[in-house]
Amino acid sequence: MSHSHAPGQQSCSHPESHVHDAAAYLAEVAAVCRERGLRLTHLREQVLRLIAEADKPVKAYALLEQMRDERGPVAPPTVYRALDFLLENGFIHKLESINAFVGCHHPRQQHSVPFLICKRCLATVELEDEAVTRLLLQQARALGFEPHAQTLEVHGLCANCGGADAAR
Ligand SMILES: [Zn+2]
Ligand SMILES: [Zn+2]
Ligand SMILES: [Zn+2]
Repeated sequence: MSHSHAPGQQSCSHPESHVHDAAAYLAEVAAVCRERGLRLTHLREQVLRLIAEADKPVKAYALLEQMRDERGPVAPPTVYRALDFLLENGFIHKLESINAFVGCHHPRQQHSVPFLICKRCLATVELEDEAVTRLLLQQARALGFEPHAQTLEVHGLCANCGGADAAR
């Protein structure tokens, strides 16, 4: 498929539902919610937009602060419930290792994919390839292990911060 990706990303697991910018992403999530009969409340939409517009993974407390700036007092549980809704429906990902949230480039898909996280600038890349995850699950099941959750997060340095030369 011919849509472009960040340097180093060669393939895309769901090119048909790939979105690039914040506006397209928000529109796509809104469309999916309409199709599936999900309620994208104003608050959920606001949380989603803040995540979409951030260029780095966002932590829950930072979200709360921004919400308070925009709309006044907000009870933390409402924000956590909004995050749960967005996670459950595959619209965002939680990066467990840094306890932060990022938007998903494929809001139509529920998927589990690896992430590359730059430890210096926190730039994050969703590695759009489910093969790694599939292999991991196969290996686990071969050992009689039934995985319930999986997060694959690779820490290192991105190309901008002096990582390995990226093939361009
Ligand atoms: Zn893609
Ligand atoms: Zn994703
Ligand atoms: Zn970096």
